[in-house]
Amino acid sequence: MQHQVSSAIQDVQIPQQQEQQHNVIDQQSSLPQRSTVSKGKYSLHDFQIMRTLGTGSFGRVHLVRSVHNGRYYAIKVLKKAQVVRMKQIEHTNDERRMLKLVEHPFLIRMWGTFQDSMNLFMVMDYIEGGELFSLLRKSQRFPNPVAKFYAAEVTLALEYLHFHNIIYRDLKPENILLDRNGHIKITDFGFAKEVETVTWTLCGTPDYIAPEVIATKPYNKSVDWWSLGILIFEMLAGYTPFYDSTPMKTYEKILHGNVIYPSFFHPDVVDLLSKLITADLTRRIGNLQSGSEDIKSHPWFSEVIWEKLLNKDIETPYEPPITSGIGDTSLFDQYPEDNLDYGIKGEDPYGEYFTDF
Ligand code: AMP
Repeated sequence: MQHQVSSAIQDVQIPQQQEQQHNVIDQQSSLPQRSTVSKGKYSLHDFQIMRTLGTGSFGRVHLVRSVHNGRYYAIKVLKKAQVVRMKQIEHTNDERRMLKLVEHPFLIRMWGTFQDSMNLFMVMDYIEGGELFSLLRKSQRFPNPVAKFYAAEVTLALEYLHFHNIIYRDLKPENILLDRNGHIKITDFGFAKEVETVTWTLCGTPDYIAPEVIATKPYNKSVDWWSLGILIFEMLAGYTPFYDSTPMKTYEKILHGNVIYPSFFHPDVVDLLSKLITADLTRRIGNLQSGSEDIKSHPWFSEVIWEKLLNKDIETPYEPPITSGIGDTSLFDQYPEDNLDYGIKGEDPYGEYFTDF
């Protein structure tokens, strides 16, 4: 996913069309530790770097193959200079920390990190089915049961993150990958943050940002439930409810808060969405006394058997056509391959910022 990060809301000049991916913005830059990989265990020599799977503002994600066990992984490479220039030091260190902490069937798993003088590397499972974004654009919109399936898996992932006091802050179809069986894996923890109460940073993706974030008010986990509402709307409609030609116009629409529901939306989903996409935090479902339980027991989700879903014991609506076996990349877009400057030894002007990697 192409990231674009701006230092202030006024600076955001992101050309947007609904066919394009949603670009991110960002104002600034107590869980059990999963310690399968100790610091320094991996290095570049452990992997054969293959094609690019996706790009971001600070680097790219490659398919790689372990020279030891022949398995495929995805390595996210971030250029230190770019991370520093775009004031993302804290977010990048947070991303690494969050990814190391989380362990859930619908969240990407990270195996370890390492660095060279210019780049940071994060080793993750390779998720072969491509982005939900690509499937949605190809399908234009999803039938009600399909949207419900993905929304339900996302709900469980957000519930888990919130239980561990993590706000995800960048929910959108580009960050939802499909595994080979068609279950979701949420990737890109670049904006995830461990927060007990409230936080203030303006970040996210224009179409998906909650009004309290735009208004630079303190906000809490419920910004993710707002984004879930936008995601469900987009899956069913094929476009986002506050879509406009510029981020500023989108923000105005979000603050105005008027949502027009297509007539083909089921009344149950309109009811759920009106409770998710509400600026009134005392009424936003997910933010009320019973938390995520209110969402899970909403009539739109009445057929969902949550325990079975969590165990991946429910048939997926779509199995990605992975034809050429493990390591197939046919479901990912092509990206121009860069001159790789990986593994260069030398001066490291930014090393002090990334001592955890
Ligand atoms: P990110 O910068 O983390 O959003 O990653 C950019 C893009 O790379 C994503 O939108 C995906 O298309 C791809 N990508 C990221 N992580 C993985 C992964 N673990 N497996 C396969 N593709 C990935």
